[in-house]
Amino acid sequence: MEEVEVNEEELLSDENGNYAYLTLGGHLYTPSYLELIDHNKCEQCEKCLNMCETRGIDEEGNIVPEMPEICNGCGHCGNICPANSIVARPIPLEEMKRRVKRYKELKSK
Ligand code: SF4
Ligand code: SF4
Repeated sequence: MEEVEVNEEELLSDENGNYAYLTLGGHLYTPSYLELIDHNKCEQCEKCLNMCETRGIDEEGNIVPEMPEICNGCGHCGNICPANSIVARPIPLEEMKRRVKRYKELKSK
């Protein structure tokens, strides 16, 4: 997957202060990022794994941690889970800035 350079100063937020971006049609869209999987409820069906384009979930069903460039915020995993064991949520702008900063730090090592 091609990496996207993110300029912290240009990050947008919606009316609730969550990170958002403009779609090609000019609409403000608020993505929902993978937050956690409740492994007590998970039925191991692997639907989430199979449909995740960015592999925000790894082969063991673990969440790849805190990198918005990995989880693209599509929210599909949470929508498809038959056991209702996935939580995805919008991310406050300040949290997104911290994630971007951390990602850049990790990349520069
Ligand atoms: S929200 Fe989308 S990109 Fe992120 S882990 Fe779920 S399916 Fe993958
Ligand atoms: S879709 Fe839900 S039940 Fe299926 S493997 Fe993923 S977390 Fe588990």
